[in-house]
Amino acid sequence: MPTIFQRIIDKEIPAKIVHEDDLCLAFQDVAPQAPTHVLVIPKKALANLAAAADEDQALLGHLLLTAKKVAEQLGLTNGYRTVINCGRDGGQSVDHLHIHLLGGRALHWPPG
Ligand code: AMP
Repeated sequence: MPTIFQRIIDKEIPAKIVHEDDLCLAFQDVAPQAPTHVLVIPKKALANLAAAADEDQALLGHLLLTAKKVAEQLGLTNGYRTVINCGRDGGQSVDHLHIHLLGGRALHWPPG
């Protein structure tokens, strides 16, 4: 079964896309936890960070730089947070690697 994010990549279900290139897609989270909440995902089917390998080094860098560029694009001049939940204890609910980009308000720390 393809994940919900794979179906977004394949354009089988809609998403509010804010960036797309050959390697990745960024779209608005359907249940935002901050005024800005975007997910940056690779088009490659990687289940999570734990599934990434050395060969994914450039892709992982591209995802982070894309998060930075989207933050600029969306005007997050006061800062923002990037989060990667990994596996059950990390709170991951969709088995396709994604970076949360959160901003638009002061965020609390530490997380729960
Ligand atoms: P995580 O819990 O780290 O796996 O994050 C998964 C995120 O995907 C959650 O913040 C969900 O709100 C978000 N999400 C789930 N389905 C969709 C969807 N169809 N479009 C956009 N975001 C989604």
